[in-house]
Amino acid sequence: MLAVCGLTQRFGGLVALDDLTFQVEEGMIYSIIGPNGAGKSTLFNCVCGIYRPDRGAVRFREEEITGRKPHQVARRGIARTFQNLELFRHMTTMENLMLGRHLHRRSGIWSGITMFHRRSRAAREEVEHRERVEEIIDLLGLHAARDRYIWQLPYGTQKLVELGRALATRPSLLLLDEPAAGMNFEERQDLLFWIGDIRDELGVTIVMIEHNMQMVMGISDRVLALDFGRTIAEGTASEVAAHPEVVRAYLG
Ligand code: ADP
Ligand code: MG
Repeated sequence: MLAVCGLTQRFGGLVALDDLTFQVEEGMIYSIIGPNGAGKSTLFNCVCGIYRPDRGAVRFREEEITGRKPHQVARRGIARTFQNLELFRHMTTMENLMLGRHLHRRSGIWSGITMFHRRSRAAREEVEHRERVEEIIDLLGLHAARDRYIWQLPYGTQKLVELGRALATRPSLLLLDEPAAGMNFEERQDLLFWIGDIRDELGVTIVMIEHNMQMVMGISDRVLALDFGRTIAEGTASEVAAHPEVVRAYLG
């Protein structure tokens, strides 16, 4: 579903991604681990069109998307969350989730031939958006947060709202950048459960960046360990956890 081939990204003299190659099959939960500065977020930025890589290619469902703009990548069904929250703090959970749906609005000023036609279609779409957002609220257990402002919510709940907003675009591929960062143990356990549900019930393929190896052990189909922008190990979670270079990187 996603193929990264020989991806290289430099910042001045620093090589953040160094000839990186890997593939993610449809339906997987694929985790990327590695110490701070390993190039994990840079990889997502290259996939999403925020950075234009110096070399290499990104392919999504056989189509090359390297160098496409972020909205073009999003329209193909790739959504992401950010390592640092990017929500509208003075809007409610519901409003933030509705914004995620924006991408799917078909009825604009130019669509529809007659006023009547246009109005009925817009009304139908509005109902569809609300239904979809209610589904996400159910799925992630966000009922209590529904009509509260983002700034009023605990950090762990804010992270869930961001996850919900990414889901609201109905992606087929979801990129999560350290979704559990800043969460307590219980919130982390819940999050893992929901990530499993998102894959199983919505059929979304997931690529998850996580600093902590323990977090990804139980849930990942495959794991990629990065350091200095290069692969140090790739395989099943237990293969990667036992790899001597991973052990060295994590245990010093
Ligand atoms: P990770 O997410 O694995 O912690 P990053 O991908 O954020 O790592 O960063 C990898 C390296 O690239 C780091 O050394 C970081 O300082 C550098 N880097 C990332 N983005 C930029 C940028 N926009 N400009 C300059 N250096 C950057
Ligand atoms: Mg990062």
